Amino acid sequence: MHNNMKTPPIYLQNTLTGKKELFTPITTGEVSMYHCGPTVYNYLHIGNLRAYVLADTLRRMFEANGYTIHQVINITDVGHLTANNDEGLGDDGEDKIEKMAKASGKTADEIAGYYTKVFFDDIHALGVQTTGTTFPKASEHIVEQIAMIKTLEEKGFVYKTSDGIYFDTSKYSEYGKLGNINLKGLEEGARIGVNDEKKNITDFALWKFSKPEERRFQEWDSPWGVGYPGWHIECSAMSAKYLGNTFDIHTGGIDHIPVHHNNEIAQSESANNGSPLAHYWLHNAFVNSDGKMSKSKGEFTRLITLVEKGIAPVEYRYWLLQARYSSQLQYTEEAVHGAAAGYKNLVAHVAKILTSTTDSANTRGTQSSQNQGTQVSQDAANKVWDEILVLINDDLNTPLCISKLWDVLKDSQITDLAKIEIIEKADSLLGLDLIKNARIFIDSEKALFISSEEIPASIKELLVKRETARKEKDWKLSDSIRDEVRNLGFEILDSDSGQTLKKI
Ligand code: AMP
Ligand code: ZN
Repeated sequence: MHNNMKTPPIYLQNTLTGKKELFTPITTGEVSMYHCGPTVYNYLHIGNLRAYVLADTLRRMFEANGYTIHQVINITDVGHLTANNDEGLGDDGEDKIEKMAKASGKTADEIAGYYTKVFFDDIHALGVQTTGTTFPKASEHIVEQIAMIKTLEEKGFVYKTSDGIYFDTSKYSEYGKLGNINLKGLEEGARIGVNDEKKNITDFALWKFSKPEERRFQEWDSPWGVGYPGWHIECSAMSAKYLGNTFDIHTGGIDHIPVHHNNEIAQSESANNGSPLAHYWLHNAFVNSDGKMSKSKGEFTRLITLVEKGIAPVEYRYWLLQARYSSQLQYTEEAVHGAAAGYKNLVAHVAKILTSTTDSANTRGTQSSQNQGTQVSQDAANKVWDEILVLINDDLNTPLCISKLWDVLKDSQITDLAKIEIIEKADSLLGLDLIKNARIFIDSEKALFISSEEIPASIKELLVKRETARKEKDWKLSDSIRDEVRNLGFEILDSDSGQTLKKI
């Protein structure tokens, strides 16, 4: 490792081997990660967002271990084909973005541009760090995708049908190795007539031809005719471009294991003479919600839906991190409200410690006893931090990291100053903004000291008006009232429990 940091070993549950394995990077001190990104034809639901909280937690874990991070999250803005059967399996149907554009009277660029922006808003609200991360768009990497299909063609892995160029999965002897896919079962379960020209049920499109009668927003010239890439090829082509033919870690939701990820492996490993695509494959389990978490069916809970219910994005993150990424979660409003209450309680504890460390700053003992105390406390803090690292390095055991944090806050052996140090580090590791929100909490607590009688009647009236404006989502009015109140000498602080006032 570059910085001579001595940290506990890292273990990851690898879908490729079905085992939890010691992580050994390709390059010492560096980690390269590819995360399958969103298809930007619609909003992301809170289940989709779990995939990026996983990507972010991995990144934060590696950063805490002193690694240099190379991270790629792709933006699928072309080629993700819809399922063409009732089970929602397969991807032989229409392009999702093209379909949405036509249905809404917009261009494909407008659709992709809008939903990409909302994706960034959502992940930033969730504390996903994006500095230094590459977000390549499929539509901007057509040349690379064509080049890879060409290589596969030259090596004899493809065949042509009336609607496109297909990958012949029977030519890749290890097809289906990720997650040990039961290919026989797939064949037996396949319905006749899905695509008669496919040689094997698992074969998939690398390039689709535009239909002569069709006018598409997105189509390009290629050696095989005008058309557009299939979905899987973008990940193979873009990961190779930004991370090399073999990189350390590949992630995505578990739904990607049977088709998308096995297809990526088949393409990349066939094109690159068998070099493994990635050494470790991590998959997040689903967030379920009584069938109401399907992007393609259009009925789902978004992050903003939670905010409207009074749940802050960081509280949703807290709920997610209270489970391991690999265990399934059942979303209910009560469950997330419960987590939100737990988070607020944690913040209140941190606020108490923050206040006590500031209050006691002037009332400490003699210089030498202070030094001694600091040393003991520093040792305790280091020991606890090591324990937290052992937990996070154990396949991202975030639930135990959080309970450890609670133990730390209640531990009388650890001084408040050392506690603050641990919480600051934990904030970097878990992205829970505890210090920031504790400061806001302290401010609003102080604001509560403004007794009701101290608030002039005219301001009380403005507060009521603003509350109504906020309920009606009239943010312009709500902001202008805030300015008016500020001019009158009071700062409004918005918290989850409503508006509070602070004298300026
Ligand atoms: P998509 O935009 O549909 O390609 O999905 C984005 C990511 O969300 C992918 O990694 C999916 O595997 C993942 N995903 C889809 N549905 C869920 C869900 N209900 N819970 C967790 N992850 C999901
Ligand atoms: Zn992918």
